[in-house]
Amino acid sequence: MNAAVFHKMGDIRYEHFDDPKIEESRDAIIRVTSTAICGSDLHIYDGFLPQLRPEVLGHEFMGIVEEVGSGVTNLKKGDRVVVPFTIACGKCYFCERNLQMHCETSNKEAYGPDGGLLSEKGGALFGYSDLYGGYNGGQAEAVRVPYADYSLHLVPETLKDEQVLFLTDIFPTGWSSISWGELTGGETVAIFGSGPVGLMAQKSAWLQGAGRVIAIDPLDYRLERARRVNKVETLNPNEVDVIEVIRSMTDGRGADLCVDAVGMEAQRSVLDKAKAVFNLEKGTTSVLETCFRAVRRGGIVSVVGVYGTPSDNFPVGRFFDKGLTVRMGQSFVSRDMSMLMDLVAQGKVVLDDIISHVLPLSDIARGYEIFKKKEDDCTKVVLKP
Ligand code: NAD
Ligand code: ZN
Ligand code: ZN
Repeated sequence: MNAAVFHKMGDIRYEHFDDPKIEESRDAIIRVTSTAICGSDLHIYDGFLPQLRPEVLGHEFMGIVEEVGSGVTNLKKGDRVVVPFTIACGKCYFCERNLQMHCETSNKEAYGPDGGLLSEKGGALFGYSDLYGGYNGGQAEAVRVPYADYSLHLVPETLKDEQVLFLTDIFPTGWSSISWGELTGGETVAIFGSGPVGLMAQKSAWLQGAGRVIAIDPLDYRLERARRVNKVETLNPNEVDVIEVIRSMTDGRGADLCVDAVGMEAQRSVLDKAKAVFNLEKGTTSVLETCFRAVRRGGIVSVVGVYGTPSDNFPVGRFFDKGLTVRMGQSFVSRDMSMLMDLVAQGKVVLDDIISHVLPLSDIARGYEIFKKKEDDCTKVVLKP
């Protein structure tokens, strides 16, 4: 088959790759019909997450079942499915508690020969380096899906690919970021980052009862899309003092919920020497710290932007003084997918209005470049094998 193969930092090539094969009885092989590039893929592309051997990236994909293993009885060739980005067995301690992102069966790399945990490594993800299980991903013509009987979700015929593709990751991620805020109705929600994840958080905030949604991003074209498709208020941190403005919008108190949908993007800016948005001395990113300052006392900060070890240093004094609740991590995609699919099917939310580019998979290298550099008003790239 042909696939987008990551070789080294900044080097992704469309080329021939081994066909995926059924390896375990619960596997399925999916012929990919649509796939997307995620902000998380950029962490590998930019070398923040080391991947030392060639791997097919991509954890946002959907397609048609081509073949199933002997243990998969609830799916058949020809079924149209979406796939959560977390690879989960459905049977272990964590899967039984709906914490599929921490599945202790799927990431074999994290366990020694006698089954003992080697480190604090978490579960496995499609196309997300050897650290997360070393599985090839879905930026390819075909992909092997482990535990297919548990993880695959059938797609109603009436919905086209673009309407449901983002159920694999970014819609559930945006949804988690808001549900961690425990809205009861009418709250002010400030969402930092208006990329694909931030846009999905904005949609989720309205659906979960926010009274006011404020989007913050330094890129005007992304704020323009946020206003157009999600009817939110917007702030550009290059133009205004975001903390001051959010306080003035909330009787001086701050937002009830602040969402960090930026993550290491801010650190990347510094490495690119583009913007000094990462405060290296304090070891915290300014986006996260801005959230802690822009949130009201007793409020909630939720973090879905990905952080790595360089940022393992929290302003714990501010947490304590303001009595904050902070929640973060990989989203509950496996748990929430069916419920969110229903919202799409019922027409309560539109997801495909964030797409800026639909390209053939063979254009993958260009896709990564324009998405990373935010060129050509790029917001979200969908690829067709
Ligand atoms: P993206 O890179 O397209 O979006 C990031 C946005 O943040 C950009 O629009 C950028 O202009 C903006 N930004 C940069 N500096 C900022 C600042 N100082 N203030 C406000 N905005 C700023 O990526 P994305 O696909 O939207 O993903 C966002 C983050 O979410 C990434 O870190 C990604 O890895 C993460 N993510 C997490 C999960 C999860 O399960 N937790 C799932 C998917 C993605
Ligand atoms: Zn993702
Ligand atoms: Zn499990």
